Amino acid sequence: MMLLKNKNVAIIGAGPAGLILAKLLQQEGINVTVYERDKDPKVRIWGGTLDLHKGSGQDAMKKAGLLESYYAKAIPMGRTVVDEQSKVLFIKNSIPENQYDNPEINRNDLRQILLDSLTPNTVIWDRKFTEFEEENEKWLLHFENKMIATADLVIGANGGMSKAKKFVTDAEVEYTGTFIIQGEVFQPEIQCSEFFQLCNNNILMLADNGINLVANPNNNGALTYNVTFRKPEKWIHENDLNFQNTENIAEFLSNILPDWDECYHQLFRSTNFFAGLPTRKISIDKAWKNNRPLPITLIGDAAHVMPPFAGQGANTGLLDALILSENLITGKFETLESAINDYEQQMKIYVSQAQLETGKNEIAMHQSGFSFQKRFD
Ligand SMILES: Cc1cc2nc3c(=O)[nH]c(=O)nc-3n(C[C@H](O)[C@H](O)[C@H](O)COP(=O)(O)OP(=O)(O)OC[C@H]3O[C@@H](n4cnc5c(N)ncnc54)[C@H](O)[C@@H]3O)c2cc1C
Repeated sequence: MMLLKNKNVAIIGAGPAGLILAKLLQQEGINVTVYERDKDPKVRIWGGTLDLHKGSGQDAMKKAGLLESYYAKAIPMGRTVVDEQSKVLFIKNSIPENQYDNPEINRNDLRQILLDSLTPNTVIWDRKFTEFEEENEKWLLHFENKMIATADLVIGANGGMSKAKKFVTDAEVEYTGTFIIQGEVFQPEIQCSEFFQLCNNNILMLADNGINLVANPNNNGALTYNVTFRKPEKWIHENDLNFQNTENIAEFLSNILPDWDECYHQLFRSTNFFAGLPTRKISIDKAWKNNRPLPITLIGDAAHVMPPFAGQGANTGLLDALILSENLITGKFETLESAINDYEQQMKIYVSQAQLETGKNEIAMHQSGFSFQKRFD
């Protein structure tokens, strides 16, 4: 408390990492504001469900007093492994003993749980951060709509493409070689009924010659899925797919997977929204700057975005928030700089392990002959 007495903390980004950090600081009486570019709290967050792990994401939720709310909204999911002819190879249903291991939560539901726990107006919406500078020993933050704000401590939590990192690290975002096509189907039980049934209420996984499909049929009434495959960066520029044109993307998928069973083609055709994203990484190995003009650090994807092949992204982000908040409030550190520095040293250790794990999975999962089934044997 002492370190931040009468000080203002600005968090840029109301993703899972920024919001939980706000909660963990606010419950200790610290003055914190979150600036978010989304227009309002109801904006639909693109992407599949998240599962929080014990030892990281769940520990942070527990410290925030929100673990029960997470369990109440999240759904324990089993696994159904299939092949491209829609033959079921393996089923592992969720069982009551494992229901709290890592249930899946919709991204908007997680945001809502975190928002409900904060005092009103902690998050200021429609504030797209653009730039900041130092003025009279305070940070001066600039936003797209000409608004400004000041803070004593800034925490960049605004995801993988963060501009907030320039005072902290020179590490650049790198492409790791995999392209993800995400799809979302509303009313999947009607729109792609065969595929929906094949999932059998579990997360469905299919690996075929370097192309993977992973789907969750139960993402708040929608079915969300990812098709992933390795491609050089050049391919992305040359192919410049237009993801607004759903018919074209469905056709593209069907063309690259001509031998797949009709139920998959039905899935592609019935997709309401597509997005394409190259997997990205900010390597954590590069030294971070120690001559920052004022206290500032990064958490979550802003610090260490990584490909999603180990399910660690959100979990490491929440762990960052837990450790950083503890360092800022324990009274163990004499200065903000030393509290921040200690967080960064701890973070680099578990993040480098997580990046290694996801990197290994990324390569292994996209090799021909890879089998999801073997992973469960
Ligand atoms: C396909 C895919 C699947 C994934 N699956 C999993 C999984 O199963 N498990 C898992 O743990 N992780 C998974 N991840 C990773 C996970 O989504 C991220 O690690 C996690 O969302 C990071 O949280 P964050 O709060 O750091 O950043 P984000 O969730 O990116 O939130 C950043 C916030 O900042 C806001 N923002 C951005 N720029 C600005 C700005 N200039 N000004 C103000 N606000 C701004 C954004 O609108 C957003 O609300 C997956 C990622 C992808 C791409």
